[in-house]
Amino acid sequence: MSLKITHYVLGPLQNNTLLLVDEGSRECAVVDPAFGAAEVLEDIHSQGLKLSRILITHAHFDHIGGVNELITWPADGIELLMHPDGLLLWQSGGGAAVYGYAFQLPELQPHPIQHGDTIRLGESEVRVLHTPGHAPGHTAFYLPELSTALVGDLIFYHGVGRTDLPGGSALVLIESIRQQILTLPPETVLIPGHGPFTSVAEELAENPFL
Ligand SMILES: [Zn+2]
Ligand SMILES: [Zn+2]
Repeated sequence: MSLKITHYVLGPLQNNTLLLVDEGSRECAVVDPAFGAAEVLEDIHSQGLKLSRILITHAHFDHIGGVNELITWPADGIELLMHPDGLLLWQSGGGAAVYGYAFQLPELQPHPIQHGDTIRLGESEVRVLHTPGHAPGHTAFYLPELSTALVGDLIFYHGVGRTDLPGGSALVLIESIRQQILTLPPETVLIPGHGPFTSVAEELAENPFL
């Protein structure tokens, strides 16, 4: 197995930020860099890794707040991947100003990803699942090799994402969970954007919202 995940809890909203490392190629990606992602960059440097991608489940400010901390300009070859439906939210700074957070939008043009895409990281594969409902363009990232899905703010341990923010829809959210997440193998580990890890089997059995 050549893909490794390191987990960080960062920022005022206690985001789960993830570092994915393809051990063969030493190529790595950061998923949802929250405020405080400089800590992740230190690990990338100290382990001699090459950061090639930043993956964004959705563009709420708490999931993109650390992008600037990961990039030393010019951003040589680092691609930021995001579903294009999230572009307006991205351009608005993910709502940071509304919540009183200072956030300078990175001068990086997001590279569009679509449902069904496979993102390659060395020998490892990350599959893109479009999972709207919490925010426009929300995606989950499925790592078949590790039986793990990074589910952003779609589903949490015994909970589901908020749907009262702009572009949210409770009906669409539940559809996304049912079609894209609950159909994964039951043993699949779910790593939400905040809080404890869970699994498909656990949520099928115990989630009161489903
Ligand atoms: Zn969110
Ligand atoms: Zn969040």
